[in-house]
Amino acid sequence: MENTELKNLWEQIKSELIKVLPESAHPWIYPLEVSGYDKGVLTVVTGQMMGRDLLRKNHYQQIVDVIKKVTHNQTADFVIIYDEKAAKSLKKENEKFQKKITESKLKEQAMENLSNMQSASNLNLKYKFENFVVGKSNEFAYKVAMAVAQNPAKKYNPLFIYGNAGLGKTHLMQAIGHYTIFNKPKLKVKYTKTEDYVNDFISNSRNSKDTIENMSKFNKKYTNIDIILIDDIQFIESKNKTMSQMQHTFDSLYNKGKQIVITSDRIPKDIPTLTAALCSRFEMGLMVELTPPDLETRIEIIRKLAIDNDLKYTEEAIKYIAMNYDKNVRELEGAFNKVSAYAEITNKPLDINLARDVLKCTEFSEEISLDKITNVTAEYFEVDLSDIKGTARGQKVSLARHLAIYLAREITGKSFVSIAEYYNKKHTTIMFAHDKIKKELPLKRDLAEAVREIKQVLKVI
Ligand code: ADP
Ligand code: MG
Repeated sequence: MENTELKNLWEQIKSELIKVLPESAHPWIYPLEVSGYDKGVLTVVTGQMMGRDLLRKNHYQQIVDVIKKVTHNQTADFVIIYDEKAAKSLKKENEKFQKKITESKLKEQAMENLSNMQSASNLNLKYKFENFVVGKSNEFAYKVAMAVAQNPAKKYNPLFIYGNAGLGKTHLMQAIGHYTIFNKPKLKVKYTKTEDYVNDFISNSRNSKDTIENMSKFNKKYTNIDIILIDDIQFIESKNKTMSQMQHTFDSLYNKGKQIVITSDRIPKDIPTLTAALCSRFEMGLMVELTPPDLETRIEIIRKLAIDNDLKYTEEAIKYIAMNYDKNVRELEGAFNKVSAYAEITNKPLDINLARDVLKCTEFSEEISLDKITNVTAEYFEVDLSDIKGTARGQKVSLARHLAIYLAREITGKSFVSIAEYYNKKHTTIMFAHDKIKKELPLKRDLAEAVREIKQVLKVI
């Protein structure tokens, strides 16, 4: 029998054996090598003495039956030979395998250490550079943060990241922390929210017999590190003691050549509680602003979330969500999470219909101004625009005015105060008008019809 033919035969027999023999016998079967087949007699070689004995003793008949079945030969036999060479190569294989296991265990151990360090540093595992979508609005801040992570205390110190809520300040700041822990594990990183720092200081500086000891522990905690990440500095208290403590922390880190990263929702000068001394320190390095991401970036942020969560979606749905949430990434994510949760629970596809139903956004609402709503309403009721915005009291004008106010609130979602400003009225008047229409709508057919038609013209339904 030719070599390949022999090997094929053995492969067939082996796969049958795996099916019929108990699992405990499998480790003896796998390393067997076929060496010949002649007149119904199959010869195999093993490097395992125990394997040879056990297969012979416990499974001889089953093996012979399998050979008979596969070869369609009524007379079959099975010879198993122990071979020292095979034993040696088996030993080598085993060692290789063990080494691989040890390596992967070490890797696992390293990952575990890493995540311990990350949680000791107070970092959220989601906030890494890899998960940060870069676009025009945040490209500069991203590059600067990366430069700081790569060269702590060398380039921009302190780094001051500012911008409105939900634009990725905390994310970018913590990304510096994760990067450091992963790439420079010897450096110590600490992330702290300003309010936690303040509370920690207050509780440790309270007069008690242990105050000195407590304060020295406090100082160690915040200065015995290589990179400090202080989030939301606008929450710093105006108390003198807190300020001078923050200044002390800042100076001792800065003078030791340690990296300081700070975030805030505004520039230092606009934080009223901040002392001039701290203000000038914060301005000393580099200040970068995060601005709301453009549409393309918002789409990318959502797409990434969908892909990371293994969700099926339509591009149209993603675009719809991204168009409607343009000021705050946290809210954008929230909207997406809401839609995807509905999709999952109701087992519906994540498409534009579902997104619309769940979010009830008025499409592209940013384009619909109060002017436009008032204009269309005036036209519908055939009254003058100036009458709606003025104080005329006719029944038709009043109704048109109330309806315009109601629609302004429903469509733009603007506050009563800003709508009141636009109509030049008190905000309680605006609330009253809105409430009145809301109550009447289910009862008055022509009113509901007016709302529907005006909305149609405005293309919000
Ligand atoms: P801030 O600290 O400015 O209020 P966060 O950093 O907490 O904002 O960001 C709010 C949410 O938006 C977080 O879940 C964050 O991961 C996400 N986020 C913000 N910007 C981005 C971005 N460019 N790419 C991906 N996710 C982002
Ligand atoms: Mg934040």
